[in-house]
Formats: sequence, structure tokens, C-alpha cells
Amino acid sequence: MRKIVISGNWKMNTTAEEAAALATQIAALSATSVEIVICPPAIHSHNVLQAVANSGIGVGVQNIHQKESGAFTGEISAKMAASVGATYTLIGHSERRQYFNETDASVNEKIGQALANGLTPIICIGETLTERENGTAFSVVRSQIEGAIANYTSADLASAIWAYEPVWAIGTGVTASPEQAQEMHAAIRSWLVELLGAATAEAQRILYGGSMNDANAADLLSQTDIDGGLIGGASLKADAFGKIITAAVALS
Ligand code: PEP
Repeated sequence: MRKIVISGNWKMNTTAEEAAALATQIAALSATSVEIVICPPAIHSHNVLQAVANSGIGVGVQNIHQKESGAFTGEISAKMAASVGATYTLIGHSERRQYFNETDASVNEKIGQALANGLTPIICIGETLTERENGTAFSVVRSQIEGAIANYTSADLASAIWAYEPVWAIGTGVTASPEQAQEMHAAIRSWLVELLGAATAEAQRILYGGSMNDANAADLLSQTDIDGGLIGGASLKADAFGKIITAAVALS
């Protein structure tokens, strides 16, 4: 059975004080049957790590640069993130693809950096509303997966986590129905079987992201191929995030 992952993405929110306070509240939500991850703004990583110390809650960054080091002003490397104690990184979030021109090629390089530095990549994929409406959602998501994993072996990617996030559901309050989400997750699983082999594909967690909240989490998480959630807005409220964790614990 795959362990459910509940991961928060705080995006560009919180001051240092707010981040430490929220992390302290989330530390109290710790549950051993569920893998809990929070991705605060990288600048708060140290304070957040201190706040969740010994709780079992993992801390990730929201992005890393695709190169190891060098003249990339303002950027953060995987090695830097690992050196402060981060253990996960989001890669290819749709906001990175949309506003910062990230491509499947840069996502592919970033995965290499994450793996080389011991960070678990949470690889984000998902179609836009136009792609859903014009019938290309499945081919778009498949090609994002193929681009992400090119040149890596199944063994390289054993620890990788996927996050299917339909762009039309992110931050909109419109959630994919459990059936819509399951349909895509099942397709993703079948492509992963084909591309990485059954053992890796059956073990990899595929999270759903896109307006998941305390009211819809149980229905989404109870789907066969939905192994967790990547949560934006609702992860900024400890009570809502806690209820999502409770729903996940009940299914574990
Ligand atoms: C996200 O940022 O990955 C996300 C899913 O955001 P929200 O939950 O706010 O839709």
C-alpha cells in the first residue's frame, strides 16, 4: 500500500514570523501513517525546519535551479536547499511553467539536480483549461511525463512523487471531480508502468492538486490512484490542513 503524502505549497506567502507560527501549528498535526510535507518560501526554510524539528514533518522548497551552481543571480540550487535541511522540492509547478518559462527540458534537468542532492522531487504536471476543452489533456500530460523522465532510469526515479494538477483547478476553487481526477491518475499510472516498469509505477505516489480543501479531500483521496494531495490555499490555514491530514489518516 502506498503511503499517502499530504504536501502544502505556501507559494509566495508569509513573513518570517507568520511562517514560524504556521509551521509550529502544523508540527502539532504530525501523523505517522501519513507523509506530511510543507513547502514554505525557501527564505523561511531554516525557521520552518526548526519549528517542525522532531515532528516527522518534511520540509521542501518550491523550486530549484537546473544548474549546480554559478552566475544565476537570485536562484537557489538543490545543493543549497539540501544543505539547510530541505528534503523535498517541487519541480515544474504550473506557476513556474506559466510565469517563469519553465519547460519539460528544464524540469528534466531540475529532477537530475534534485536526485543528485538527495531531494525527493515532487514533479508537477497538468493540462490547461484550453487543453482539457480541446481534448488534448491526456496527450499533454503524457508528454510532460516523457519530457520529465527522459534519460533517467527507473531506479533513478524510484523516490519521485508526481503531482497531477489541472491548471484550471489551481487557486480557482474549481476542483476536478474525483472521477475526473481518478481517470487521469489511472492513465498516468498506466504510462508509468509502460515507461518505468510495473514495480516503480505501482510504488510511486501520484498526488492530486487543484483547490483540494477540507471539504473535498476525503472524496479525492479515496480514489484508487490518488495517493495524496498538493495543497496551496488550504495549506496556509492550519485547521483546514489538519482536517485534510485527518481525512488521509482515516484512509491509511
Ligand atoms: C498548488 O499550488 O499546487 C495548488 C494546488 O494550489 P490550490 O490548492 O490553492 O489550488
